[in-house]
Amino acid sequence: MPDVTALMWFRRDLRLSDNPALLDAVQAGDGRVLGVFVVDPLLWKRSGDPRREHLATSLRALSKAMGGRLVVRSGDPVTVIPQLAEEIGAVSVHISADYAPYGQGRDQEVEASLNCPLVATGSPYAIAPGRIFNQQDRPYQVFTPYFRAWLEHGWRQPVDAPQNVQWVKADSEDLPKGEAEGAGEEAARKHWQTYLEDVGEYDDVRDRPDLDRTSRMSVPLKWGEIHPRTMLADLARQRSGGAESYRRELAWREFCADLLARNPEAAWKPLRSEFERMAYDEPGDQFVAWQQGRTGFPLVDAGMRQLAAEGFMHNRVRMVVASFLVKDLHVHWKYGARWFMQSLRDGDLASNSLNWQWVAGCGADASPYFRIFNPIGQGLKFDPAGDYVRRWIPELRDLPGKAAHEPWKHGGADGYPEPIVDHAEARREALRRYDAIKA
Ligand code: FAD
Repeated sequence: MPDVTALMWFRRDLRLSDNPALLDAVQAGDGRVLGVFVVDPLLWKRSGDPRREHLATSLRALSKAMGGRLVVRSGDPVTVIPQLAEEIGAVSVHISADYAPYGQGRDQEVEASLNCPLVATGSPYAIAPGRIFNQQDRPYQVFTPYFRAWLEHGWRQPVDAPQNVQWVKADSEDLPKGEAEGAGEEAARKHWQTYLEDVGEYDDVRDRPDLDRTSRMSVPLKWGEIHPRTMLADLARQRSGGAESYRRELAWREFCADLLARNPEAAWKPLRSEFERMAYDEPGDQFVAWQQGRTGFPLVDAGMRQLAAEGFMHNRVRMVVASFLVKDLHVHWKYGARWFMQSLRDGDLASNSLNWQWVAGCGADASPYFRIFNPIGQGLKFDPAGDYVRRWIPELRDLPGKAAHEPWKHGGADGYPEPIVDHAEARREALRRYDAIKA
């Protein structure tokens, strides 16, 4: 019998372990698999430098783990994948399913253009989006009952990496260049194992940007360098309050993906339709000040400067800067969400858009619009000694302790701007605009 080859199309699953799609490919190809990553110009362009850098480094790591045999091709996957499948006479093309709107449409088109089956096995989630329903057979709109159902539904145990894969060669472009620290499957697993030693303390430290002790696993999760199932299996062995809270956060990630899969328009449109009528201001100079971390509100500016420097921002600070944009500057959340997607290393359409909607009060299970974060109060509470803001704003370094959160009360800080809005007045204006859509 002639040799058969299966095609494994890697996308957001840049790993060999706990990868059910890869196991299926190995089985279908009788051990002979060609692994390919397609650099889709559309996604590459949208990604922004931090994400591109991480992806490029992760691809290098994946290829190394495959004995240098990862094939990279650029172009529209709708033409590249069928061509490559034809070229190698693939018996089947294997993927882990994508539930984001662009990916869903793309995969349908690829399937229609192939002369062999497109086999989707698994997803980047413990439970695939769209799978959980309430007792009335409807999707959950609220996180807590979703979370309960998610726990009850359960998930499969992780699977090992396949043994004895014969990675098939084909012409490949050079791998994109990247030197991101900590990218790739091996680095992700090591980082996770180290973090697990401290996960018991997660509850005590997770809201404190100054301590910087959250896991930063959002980046490897974004690229599938580790599967959440692997993490959940490790957490199940921990039995601490911290491990339980951490599991709940992973469920938030899945809830966001579930909401987006069922409501693709939620990427850029409010889930609650009355917010279509909300009056927003066009982004102008104040928006630029927000992007640059020059609003005169230390916690907001520290967050935006961390984002620019690291492609990362602590969750608490993400909530504060997002609230500030929407409720103090009255700019539509979609502009902030777009800026985040360009700037974040972990930029993920589902987690990003649904969290922006949560903060903006227009999501399914959102924070009520009238609960408006006070950017100073949040700083004093979650960065009590001012360490986080001084770390990112050099102009504040001479202001000790809490004083860094209110420089104007302590003679100001050289080179640091005055607040660009009066928070109390901006808050009243936000509530007036909200009253207008409630009617
Ligand atoms: P940890 O506290 O260690 O949490 C563990 C994991 O749980 C995270 O890695 C993440 O996968 C998941 N998680 C935690 N909080 C959330 C949440 N609120 N929603 C969904 N998943 C969560 N996360 C992204 O991965 N990509 C984004 O583009 C993104 N954009 C956001 C935009 C805004 C406005 C806000 C408020 C939050 C956003 N988040 C996003 C969620 C959250 O801020 C990050 O996942 C988290 O800060 C990543 O840091 P960590 O891995 O150290 O988190």
